Amino acid sequence: MTERELLEKIKASHHVVALTGAGVSTESGIPDFRGPNGLYSKYPENIFDIDYLYAEPEGFYRFWREALLPMSEAQHNDAHTLLAELESRSLLEAVITQNIDGLHQKAGSKNVIELHGNIFEYYCTRCGKVRSLESVKKLLESNPVPRCDCGGLIRPNIVFFGESLPMHALSEATRHARECDLMIVLGSSLVVYPAAQLPIIAKEHGAKLIIVNKGKTGLDDLADFKFDRNLSDFARELIKHLHST
Ligand SMILES: [Zn+2]
Repeated sequence: MTERELLEKIKASHHVVALTGAGVSTESGIPDFRGPNGLYSKYPENIFDIDYLYAEPEGFYRFWREALLPMSEAQHNDAHTLLAELESRSLLEAVITQNIDGLHQKAGSKNVIELHGNIFEYYCTRCGKVRSLESVKKLLESNPVPRCDCGGLIRPNIVFFGESLPMHALSEATRHARECDLMIVLGSSLVVYPAAQLPIIAKEHGAKLIIVNKGKTGLDDLADFKFDRNLSDFARELIKHLHST
């Protein structure tokens, strides 16, 4: 299959959904920090455990300043643009993402289902008051840890290890997996639940599955076709065909 043929397939489908993982953001300078790499090796392995956040909030927010705050300033790339353009042409129903960087929205995607939350929203762990990234940045100018007026610890609205996924996002993602006739997975190694479960649900309900990922994924055998190539090259090629039709 070529990118041009995939575009024809997308146009001929009725309900197309994309599932994205860390791979779509690497060209925006965001490393797969849950995966193995040396970049954050000076931080504890359990930096994303919910128990660590409560036990060592200062440690977590040191990591936040170095790793998560820069992520909030990253720019989207061609892979994000591709999905936003497909949606704006009514060729894509939704983007389901494991990423917390908000780059799909920056690129213009409207219907984004965030399985792990995002780094732009915060709330008080005691009274529940919602905060913006800007207000948390301000609090962190003069404090090692952001605290609410009530004294409670303010946390990002992301899913830590040891927490369950947001119910609404998960049920929406599952609904799309059941109802789609074409699922395109981009930049996910498909080894972590529930991302790995969604393509299986889609296949069980008769959808075609296309995987775009440089390197092996956990569900290559299940895919109807696999583009084993650089995501940006793939995205640019598909955008080119999209613009010429
Ligand atoms: Zn509070």
